[in-house]
Amino acid sequence: MTHELHGRCHCGNLEVTYTTDIAPADATVRSCTCSFCRKHGARAVSDPAGAITYTARDPDQLHRYRFETGATDFLICRNCGVYVGAYMEDRAAAEGTTGPPRR
Ligand SMILES: [Zn+2]
Repeated sequence: MTHELHGRCHCGNLEVTYTTDIAPADATVRSCTCSFCRKHGARAVSDPAGAITYTARDPDQLHRYRFETGATDFLICRNCGVYVGAYMEDRAAAEGTTGPPRR
């Protein structure tokens, strides 16, 4: 069974759609230890057979932040400051993230 999961930044400018055959309850949620992910409280899931699509209603409000090797674009909304995911063009791979755990 294919699962289609949707997310967005706080203001709704950036949207993400993640399609995977892995049920949400079976997905392994990772917590990266890099300083960027720690500061954003980011969690990530991955599925090499899955697909992820990012949509920007206003592309001028999409900021592609790069650091260290510069191989990855960390996608951030300029309007609300939310980090929605990462994109690695060289590997044709993308990663979706979630915000900090809800309490
Ligand atoms: Zn936003």
